[in-house]
Amino acid sequence: ALTLVWFRQDLRLRDNPALTYASERGLVIPLYISDTDCPEHFVPGSASKWWLHQSLSSLNDSLNGQLHCLKGDASKLLIEFIQLHDIKSVVWNRSYEPWQIKRDTQLKHALIEAGINVQSFNSHLLWEPWQVLKKDETPYKVFTPYYRRGCLSKASPRMPVEVPKNLQIEYFPESDKGLDSLELMPDINWHGTIEKMWTPGEQGAANHLSDFLPDGAKEYKNKRDFPDLGATSKLSAHLHFGEISPNQVWYAAIDSLNGNTEDVGLDCYLSELGWREFSHSLLFHFPHIPQKNFSPKFEHFPWRTDDNSLKAWQLGQTGIPIVDAGMRELWQTGTMHNRLRMVVGSFLVKNLLIDWRKGERWFWDCLLDADLAANSASWQWIAGTGADAAPYFRIF
Ligand code: FAD
Repeated sequence: ALTLVWFRQDLRLRDNPALTYASERGLVIPLYISDTDCPEHFVPGSASKWWLHQSLSSLNDSLNGQLHCLKGDASKLLIEFIQLHDIKSVVWNRSYEPWQIKRDTQLKHALIEAGINVQSFNSHLLWEPWQVLKKDETPYKVFTPYYRRGCLSKASPRMPVEVPKNLQIEYFPESDKGLDSLELMPDINWHGTIEKMWTPGEQGAANHLSDFLPDGAKEYKNKRDFPDLGATSKLSAHLHFGEISPNQVWYAAIDSLNGNTEDVGLDCYLSELGWREFSHSLLFHFPHIPQKNFSPKFEHFPWRTDDNSLKAWQLGQTGIPIVDAGMRELWQTGTMHNRLRMVVGSFLVKNLLIDWRKGERWFWDCLLDADLAANSASWQWIAGTGADAAPYFRIF
């Protein structure tokens, strides 16, 4: 049987449940669609688009150049594609941005009604947001109980990570517009440094993981807060685009310490992956957090409008060396150490008294790892408007 695999934020062959399912049934048709029906606020930023282009190029290479690429209204294009090629089975791995959930739910109903076999899988999270709830079935709003009592009390089984055996692809050249047709690459050449520093794709992700382990997890607690040490795993963009799964990272870290989860370094590293899960849980249960204060009492906060200060912050010209270093790092490299993200965020919101949403938007455009869940939850945390917020008067 022919099965269409709709790739989204799962740009890998290993530990990819949708791809594995499809390849066990017969021939696989791999498809990526750049969805122009995405609401404006959620359209990926320039840095993210650059990464996506490279990542798709790498995936296409792994699929012998047989990844179909299309751009347009994703639901419409998908239905046209399956009708044209008489496809009876469609699979994907779930995405969690609110607009994607809405699109996928509607599409799934339409496909089922048309008699198509549709299956969706979890490949992006260790725990589905609806699985980890408080005893009264409401979502957790505070990280520590969410993670320690909620997540860790539930199994997240180790998944097989091999590339599916006997992966056989069916390719329709006339239905592939090619990667360049997605128009993801920037018009102006600002990505020279970034290109030298990063290798998007499944192999790049695997390399970062093996560079970080075996000692990284053990050393993590002691070193992670020092931006000059570069002692973190640098996996966030790879995880965002699904070039590596959280399952792979989680178990590789545990294996690097021979399963000793009592180790404080390992515990600390795993809990950062827990923050990633928590951010997704918050976004799922409180889908307004990218645009509105988690806590409504901050909706009338008297933020300052000060375009000169905002510009100075964006360009790394505030005169405060540590803030400027972080902002210039972001501009030059497409990333910023976590500690500096907290420092520059705190400076924007608590010193300059500028609305956190201005910072969130700048990060969204400049970060290679820009992620709706992590970015909005982290900005709200920094601003003190969030769920598990640092009190609003705490300044870094
Ligand atoms: P490590 O320290 O090696 O951590 C391992 C993984 O855990 C990361 O790759 C990431 O997937 C996850 N993680 C770590 N810290 C967090 C966190 N606080 N929240 C959620 N997940 C976490 N992270 C993003 O992936 N995308 C964003 O858009 C983003 N925006 C942020 C904005 C602000 C204001 C702040 C303070 C933090 C933001 N973070 C974001 C979280 C964090 O800074 C990055 O995940 C981290 O710096 C990436 O480096 P690393 O892969 O070496 O992380």
